[in-house]
Amino acid sequence: NDQKQCSNDVIFRSRLPDIYIPNHLPLHDYIFENISEFAAKPCLINGPTGEVYTYADVHVTSRKLAAGLHNLGVKQHDVVMILLPNSPEVVLTFLAASFIGAITTSANPFFTPAEISKQAKASAAKLIVTQSRYVDKIKNLQNDGVLIVTTDSDAIPENCLRFSELTQSEEPRVDSIPEKISPEDVVALPFSSGTTGLPKGVMLTHKGLVTSVAQQVDGENPNLYFNRDDVILCVLPMFHIYALNSIMLCSLRVGATILIMPKFEITLLLEQIQRCKVTVAMVVPPIVLAIAKSPETEKYDLSSVRMVKSGAAPLGKELEDAISAKFPNAKLGQGYGMTEAGPVLAMSLGFAKEPFPVKSGACGTVVRNAEMKILDPDTGDSLPRNKPGEICIRGNQIMKGYLNDPLATASTIDKDGWLHTGDVGFIDDDDELFIVDRLKELIKYKGFQVAPAELESLLIGHPEINDVAVVAMKEEDAGEVPVAFVVRSKDSNISEDEIKQFVSKQVVFYKRINKVFFTDSIPKAPSGKILRKDLRARLANGLMN
Ligand code: AMP
Repeated sequence: NDQKQCSNDVIFRSRLPDIYIPNHLPLHDYIFENISEFAAKPCLINGPTGEVYTYADVHVTSRKLAAGLHNLGVKQHDVVMILLPNSPEVVLTFLAASFIGAITTSANPFFTPAEISKQAKASAAKLIVTQSRYVDKIKNLQNDGVLIVTTDSDAIPENCLRFSELTQSEEPRVDSIPEKISPEDVVALPFSSGTTGLPKGVMLTHKGLVTSVAQQVDGENPNLYFNRDDVILCVLPMFHIYALNSIMLCSLRVGATILIMPKFEITLLLEQIQRCKVTVAMVVPPIVLAIAKSPETEKYDLSSVRMVKSGAAPLGKELEDAISAKFPNAKLGQGYGMTEAGPVLAMSLGFAKEPFPVKSGACGTVVRNAEMKILDPDTGDSLPRNKPGEICIRGNQIMKGYLNDPLATASTIDKDGWLHTGDVGFIDDDDELFIVDRLKELIKYKGFQVAPAELESLLIGHPEINDVAVVAMKEEDAGEVPVAFVVRSKDSNISEDEIKQFVSKQVVFYKRINKVFFTDSIPKAPSGKILRKDLRARLANGLMN
């Protein structure tokens, strides 16, 4: 009965009933709706310093920062860029921007100046919140009038503003807050390449994020969802929507405590889990791998962890078993997300608790208040259970579209409102979703996005390269790495190393080309589209030239 027929489509829904979602509220009002019940509770623990912010601290400080930003001229619909490692300032800036109806776009602080500049320009960022050590990378943007705010407590670079001074503003007067924030207004603008092409701004609205958070934590929930007593590990980068939404926003909504760690270092991580009695570890497969392999785990008491949840890339059966052995009291769950989908499409329900068993290799079941269907990639027909096809999702949580790119939007969200993920999977008899392949170009290095089109456009700019295609190659530690098939220009003897270095200088570490294969031509369809499948098949068969 959960699988209903509608215009010949087989539509899958959650086994849990739909819930009431107050998605008419602006995101910050929804997030802080129940704060009076836990105002004095720890909200954030800054891992490196041990500093604790209560919910009341976070609420007041983010409102003061909102006033500070407003006084600097940041208005409703303006874009603020967050260029920070995980830190309390990420949370404060995100909330402050939401309060004044502004939009945040988050970028990886390890990006090269060119990568940051592209995102800042594409999103028309007015102000960047960062640390002094990254200011050199963005100084040039000041010429375009972009303001730079740094979060450091000691000396700050010239012509920058100090974060702590902005949070000393008076609480915003009523007249400085926009009169009306529409549920359809954009509040977050993460960048993603989606199913094809270059990274694009993904417009996530107040309504979309409220819906997504509610789908993950509101209502009567199975025991794996967050609750107020949880201490939730946040070591995954908050510039990615998975941590921003599924850790930060979800924890804030329920009143849990977030342990913020700026980087993954195994001993430190285990120490902090023991010290702060972490109950939920939100991870990605490479972190699972590192924990599974580490002999250090024996030295720490990890018994407080009740749930380990992995997402962003596939987790194999061996890793599932290995991680269960390390965390004696933890249930293991998976989540499946895509930035454009808001991002969560599916999550595990209630570990071995009938009628919702969790199966090895499954990445959960579709979230509530949403519809999923599986399409035959060749015919476009919707498929029944146990048949793999392209995963599509529909619901209020999905993106509004790509910023300034109606064509890319139309090729991702169809006229009936279905978002096409470019992932291939099937739903089994127990509603569990299994991802088995990817139709889209995207490469995922340890869960980080690498867009082949971005690397191809750099490479094709090299005078000694005539043609090029970048595809994913499987690799144990990273999951996938980008490799390039290169056609050299006439008389060129350019070497693999030269090509690798040419790219390395221009991109963040995980986009570096891992291998170069020289070839005579790149296989293409008559339309000029690269036949990536053929190249992936060549890799699989060891026929690289
Ligand atoms: P992103 O937009 O960076 O979150 O990347 C989204 C893509 O990551 C999805 O479309 C999938 O290809 C992949 N992905 C995310 N979660 C999972 C998962 N649990 N298992 C397999 N692939 C995943």
